[in-house]
Amino acid sequence: MTRALITGVTGQDGKHLSELLLAKGYEVFGMVNGQRQDDSKNLSDEFPSVKQVRGDLTDSSSLVRVLEETQPEEVYNLGAISFVGMSFQQPELTANVTGMGVLRLLEAIRATKMSERVRVYQASSSEMFGKVQEVPQTEKTAFYPRSPYGVAKVFAHQACVNYREAYGMHISCGILFNHEGERRGPEFVTRKISQGIARIKLGKQDKILLGDLTPRRDWGYAGDYVQAMWKMLQQTEPDDYVISTGITHSVRNFVEQAIMAADLPGSVENYIEFDSRFTRPSEVDLLIGDSTKARERLNWIPKVSFEELVTRMVKSDLLLESRNP
Ligand code: NAP
Repeated sequence: MTRALITGVTGQDGKHLSELLLAKGYEVFGMVNGQRQDDSKNLSDEFPSVKQVRGDLTDSSSLVRVLEETQPEEVYNLGAISFVGMSFQQPELTANVTGMGVLRLLEAIRATKMSERVRVYQASSSEMFGKVQEVPQTEKTAFYPRSPYGVAKVFAHQACVNYREAYGMHISCGILFNHEGERRGPEFVTRKISQGIARIKLGKQDKILLGDLTPRRDWGYAGDYVQAMWKMLQQTEPDDYVISTGITHSVRNFVEQAIMAADLPGSVENYIEFDSRFTRPSEVDLLIGDSTKARERLNWIPKVSFEELVTRMVKSDLLLESRNP
């Protein structure tokens, strides 16, 4: 039985990945951080077979202990302060968890003498491309992050490349473009839209307050994207891969599709109100990825379309909201 350790196991991707690895017969250890007992309880309700271990990316000694206790063959580092908006409000915390946390984890792997036998997945991000230097973005596109989150992810990514080259460690970075789903946190714009539209449909809310509707993203489904993470660690040689759909849509398109999915009349303006609090000091205008390398070498393809993704999210929120008066 292969042993995998997942940091950030309580997050969107952590849950999808747990589901995938358990289905493949893995023994899955999930690192839960801090004191948020509710998160670990939700995880045990949903995934009783995931073995929880307490640790935090800001605490090196806890990482060493977690590695010693779990003796993983595969480590998936998904833990991060991952909300771009929050990274502007708490830049140091973001750098500490999302950036330095990765260095701590790699050093903990070396300190426990596991660097030769453990395979590591690092959750890199399309936000590293920020003010894009070419369209579409590939593994070779220069980084130009536009947020403290993007900056921290670039640091983490480069640390992984360096440890791979310097110490011969099996570390692969997935440069994942935005991926969403029913488990997306409510602070993210896509879930805010699907939840808001569901609440409007049920008469619980009138409008959704949003910032700029023009930014364009390459949106995929989280369930498809965790497949790519696993495939990367099954390769003999570690490498970096862009994971994306290659199709871009604006935030406005997301709202339009959500309105259709809920079968509501009218247009975007009927349901959205601009609120400058949700604009960012510097924005990423356009992201679109070229995942040819992953498609050719990993035989990975995204299956869920944009339309299906939005429809799934709205339907799921309609169900959740109708159960919760
Ligand atoms: P998410 O839902 O926000 O989950 C983040 C996870 O990190 C949570 O389980 C969180 O735990 C944990 N975490 C926060 N602070 C931590 C700390 N100090 N030590 C250990 N764990 C900590 O994010 P996601 O969407 O699943 O994304 C997974 C990873 O992929 C993240 O690294 C994200 O930056 C990256 N990524 C995501 C996307 C995307 O579109 N989803 C795209 C590219 C890259 P608590 O909730 O208990 O704090």
